[in-house]
Amino acid sequence: MPSDRFSFSRLQILDQCPIKYRFIYLDGRPVQGESIESYLGSRLHEALEWLYRERRTGRNILFDDLLNQFRALWRDGWHGFIYIVDRGWTTDDYYQQGQRCLAGYYRRFAPFDEPVDSTEQTLTFDLADHDDCLMTAVLDRLDNHGAGWWSIHDYKSGKNMLTVARAQRDLQMKIYALALVRTKDDLQRVDVAWHFLRHGKDIVLENVQWNPKRTATMLRKRIDKAREGEAQPETLQPRESLLCNWCYYWDICPAKVGQSHPAQVVR
Ligand code: SF4
Repeated sequence: MPSDRFSFSRLQILDQCPIKYRFIYLDGRPVQGESIESYLGSRLHEALEWLYRERRTGRNILFDDLLNQFRALWRDGWHGFIYIVDRGWTTDDYYQQGQRCLAGYYRRFAPFDEPVDSTEQTLTFDLADHDDCLMTAVLDRLDNHGAGWWSIHDYKSGKNMLTVARAQRDLQMKIYALALVRTKDDLQRVDVAWHFLRHGKDIVLENVQWNPKRTATMLRKRIDKAREGEAQPETLQPRESLLCNWCYYWDICPAKVGQSHPAQVVR
């Protein structure tokens, strides 16, 4: 039985490729592969989580401390199924890029005195009272400014940066804002911030006025569509795209089986 908990990434996978959704959420097939971009993104998130956790103890964090932590996370998390698609890039290129991302973040935000409430917090909520749809949202960072004023922070390590216009329509952030509406009793104001680590830039929207009912209705439609697919798994078919190069189900995907994957395992 598929889980009754939905998330932005689960709905996104259904959009990107229905059969991949089936492999993950219906068949429960483990994937034995991770792109180096994903590996780098996870280590950056962990390094920033560490930074704010240490900061909350009152410790002053030097840039070298942050780099040492990143180095340890990179080394300790390494496993044998990390893939590179881009033949022009080496492992060291990604590692150096991670260091540059942290240098830019450090320059912009040291000494990190933000009123951090939590990092990597999972919020589970229903779309409306007595609704049978449960959503989960994992917030990279949540700041509490007091008097019902909260700000949500999301770290982006990919190469694409949002425009402000697209940020204002961003469904993932709207889900996070809805999570606060559904779980915080004192909510008065929500600010949202995207930190584009590769670009060294940030987008901040203050006091967003997203309509929570509209977000919930949109999610409800997408969850209903997912449940329809789950009830008729044969309708969940491959949807090939460039993203196939970052998918590690080629050995069982009807559209790719027998073909060799373009990515190489990093040694
Ligand atoms: S290889 Fe492409 S079509 Fe096949 S499951 Fe993965 S994303 Fe879908």
